[in-house]
Amino acid sequence: MKAKVVKENCIGCGACQAIAPNIFELGDDGLSKTIVDEVPKADEEDCKDAIESCPTGAIVEE
Ligand code: SF4
Repeated sequence: MKAKVVKENCIGCGACQAIAPNIFELGDDGLSKTIVDEVPKADEEDCKDAIESCPTGAIVEE
């Protein structure tokens, strides 16, 4: 799976980074971004949890 942060919807709460630190990271702009192109199988559960936990629905699965 792949995941993408829609920056316009991100409020920089950091939840995704806390839940799936192998996938998401807050950038210099204070907003989240993905740090991998393809989500490794071992991190898919964490990634899905992050998607569900994002308060603004800013993470989309691709
Ligand atoms: S959980 Fe959502 S709003 Fe919070 S930093 Fe991640 S993408 Fe942004």
